[in-house]
Amino acid sequence: MKRTLSVLGSSGSIGRQTLTVAEACGHRVAALTVNRSAELAEAQARQFRPRLAVAVDRAAADDLRVRLSDTETKVLAGEEGLLEAASLPEADTVVTAIVGVAGLRPTLAAVDCGKRIALANKETLVCAGELVMARAKERGADIVPVDSEHSAIFQCLQGCHDRGEVRRLIITASGGPFYGKSCEELSLVTKEQALRHPNWSMGAKITVDSATLMNKGLEFIEAMRLYEMPPEKIQIVVHRESIVHSLVEFEDGAILAQLGSADMCLPIQYALTWPERTPGPARPLDLLNCPPLTFQRPDPDTFRCLGLALECAERGGTSTAILNGANEAAVALFLEDQISFLDISRLVERALAQVAPMDCPGLEDILEADRAARAAVHDFVR
Ligand code: NAD
Ligand code: MG
Repeated sequence: MKRTLSVLGSSGSIGRQTLTVAEACGHRVAALTVNRSAELAEAQARQFRPRLAVAVDRAAADDLRVRLSDTETKVLAGEEGLLEAASLPEADTVVTAIVGVAGLRPTLAAVDCGKRIALANKETLVCAGELVMARAKERGADIVPVDSEHSAIFQCLQGCHDRGEVRRLIITASGGPFYGKSCEELSLVTKEQALRHPNWSMGAKITVDSATLMNKGLEFIEAMRLYEMPPEKIQIVVHRESIVHSLVEFEDGAILAQLGSADMCLPIQYALTWPERTPGPARPLDLLNCPPLTFQRPDPDTFRCLGLALECAERGGTSTAILNGANEAAVALFLEDQISFLDISRLVERALAQVAPMDCPGLEDILEADRAARAAVHDFVR
């Protein structure tokens, strides 16, 4: 089935790969959005001829409007533009490839319109998963994960009609560039080393999250929300080869896994075509040339961000939004060379100690928890 897409975050790593899939598989693009990259948005709009192109930044939107003045594409700015792209009538599928909690309101807007959500923006589920999943159920919006681990689980669950038959979800983790290092060694790592992921090429924020293992903690919470699983039914195993993308163990002891090359085109494409499968651009996996598959226990004490995320997964309420907001602020400071690698977990831990969590939050409570956590991080650094 050919889909008509609205791609939120089309200039990013997932956004660009989504357009690769769209081109290879013949899906249409009705809207695309960027934060600031007017030049790239122009090239994408000339190739895909969407009805709407959005640059959140107003100066970038002015620039883009001039660049596209000879085309049919309408250009909008700001969050209003994002919300319009998320609810465009002709788009049946919204790919949420924005990084961070900035993706929350646009995701909710798409859910409210009953769109299929191809969800890459995990921070939205970490902060507001219960609210988003409940709203999606109410509006009949399918949320299909793009994150490779969650896509693997989603694929393994096809044909499972009773979630009670699931004993546990097993999420694999590459371990990132610093796997096996001690705290002393982690105190010396640089930004350049953190940005060099061994297996995946991704945006800067998620690459740093993969180095701290916060990414795996966020994915643990994402899995709880997507599959309505309690924390005790989810396990993380380190799998350095990034070939087994995740697994599901059933009550009879059978374990199903999804294997593939480390190529996001496959989970992106499956989120668009599910329940169908079609040929596409993903690199095939050559089993005869694979390294041996290994599985090890993660270390949430050395990789403190993972430990903190698991504590918040247990705690629930706004604690996961505080965790996420503090982490977004701390990672941004790390990328600006303002703090060290280990300061990221220190700042997140201090924000969690300072900002009191609340239970059963509404959207405004969640956004307030996010703001308070960011403010706490900036206060500590000052
Ligand atoms: P990226 O940094 O490469 O791209 C981010 C996109 O979001 C860009 O298009 C940018 O313009 C846009 N953006 C940034 N801030 C914004 C804001 N405030 N408002 C609106 N738009 C904004 O990131 P990415 O690696 O593509 O990751 C995107 C999302 O997908 C993240 O949530 C990430 O965790 C998730 N994800 C990524 C991968 C991957 O392989 N890259 C894998 C799994 C999940
Ligand atoms: Mg992942």
